[in-house]
Amino acid sequence: MSHNYRKKEIGGRALAPETMMMGYGHEPHLSKGSLKPPIFQTSTFVFRSAEEGKAFFEVAYGLREREEAEEEGLIYSRINNPDLQVLEDRLAIWDHTEKSLVFASGMAAISTSLLAYLRPGGVLIYSEPLYGGTEYLAHLTLPEFGVKGVAFHNSDGAAGMAAAVQEGRRLAEETGGRVDAIYVETPANPTNGLVDIAAARRASESLEKDGRRPPVIVDNTFLGPLWQTPHDCGADLTVTSLTKYVGGHSDLIAGASSGDEKWLAPVREMRTVIGTMCDPNTGWMLMRSLETLKLRMTASKEGAKKVAAYLRGHDKVESVLFLDYLPEDHPDRALYERQCRAAGSTFSFLIKGGEGEAFRFLNALKIIHLAVSLGGTESLASHPASMTHSDMPPDERERLGIKESLIRISVGVENPDDLIADLAQALEAV
Ligand SMILES: *Cc1c(COP(=O)(O)O)cnc(C)c1O
Repeated sequence: MSHNYRKKEIGGRALAPETMMMGYGHEPHLSKGSLKPPIFQTSTFVFRSAEEGKAFFEVAYGLREREEAEEEGLIYSRINNPDLQVLEDRLAIWDHTEKSLVFASGMAAISTSLLAYLRPGGVLIYSEPLYGGTEYLAHLTLPEFGVKGVAFHNSDGAAGMAAAVQEGRRLAEETGGRVDAIYVETPANPTNGLVDIAAARRASESLEKDGRRPPVIVDNTFLGPLWQTPHDCGADLTVTSLTKYVGGHSDLIAGASSGDEKWLAPVREMRTVIGTMCDPNTGWMLMRSLETLKLRMTASKEGAKKVAAYLRGHDKVESVLFLDYLPEDHPDRALYERQCRAAGSTFSFLIKGGEGEAFRFLNALKIIHLAVSLGGTESLASHPASMTHSDMPPDERERLGIKESLIRISVGVENPDDLIADLAQALEAV
């Protein structure tokens, strides 16, 4: 019996990602036959000879290309580590990209990917609303480094994006800089508004200058990697908070940036320099999580469908912002069908009333925990207006549709009928 630890097909049949999660990239006999990759809890790696050390550094520092049969040499855990390498190979399979890089958090993945491309005098075009941390970075932190931000609201569709591109181009010409990146979050938290990734790619191509165009970077945390593949729609880099669905058990913080080597190389260099990589133990936990990723995301997606349908029929609920319920005549409907494979399991709903009703409901929940975050095995509920989005001016919040009566829920893998019983008694208590 022979095993090839990088096997992607068998008898002409391409293996499914969920099959490859059990073994891809790990050669047991390089680790004393250990079925599972051990945790390589080490800061540094011993070279067999000075010549070998030299060769490893030549490749790591880009002084020469790696030869066909040459493995990437292990040097130091800020540069690379076997747990991260195997994990990155497996994440790239899900994201349909050549490569992936893992980071200490979703924000580390996002900021390192952006820092690799942004320069003083340059422009960052981005969709709104964004995850709170990313919003802070784009709106407050990056301008201090001379990066100008131009935002467009996801509900303004193609016209909004076109206006931002025009404004970005104008600002860049003013400073002699360029539009350095286009950043998109879709679906966006907490309203599930969508952005057309293919349109963002066309915008990037329209900004090409001297043979270079800005990367399209897409935050795929809400539906990824199962229900949306930004790379297939034209994204150059896919960033994901692995803290959410991929980690999936609310017990770690990590992030990833995936893309083809051409786009990912500057990100890897930046990660090595500023040290935002993931640690080996977290990497190992993520590999364990990947084995059940499809099972968990499928179960929570099915559960969410039942929960959303229940809420939709309840007379204390005003509306449910679940992607499957986008009306046929909504501009996002066709985009949803083209860009996404399912609605996922994180969505919001409006309870009739305001903050008082929302709080009474949240305080009455017995199984569903009151906490921010999403994508774990357990269901969570939160109140965006007073929690994740509380630092926004109220009129801005209103404009983005984050009302006092809005409740966000992340459906886990519990029996959905138990969740519905919990929702029923909490709505009763309002
Ligand atoms: C949580 C989250 C992030 C940030 O990830 P961390 O792992 O908390 O740093 C970024 N984007 C989205 C959409 C998120 O939900």
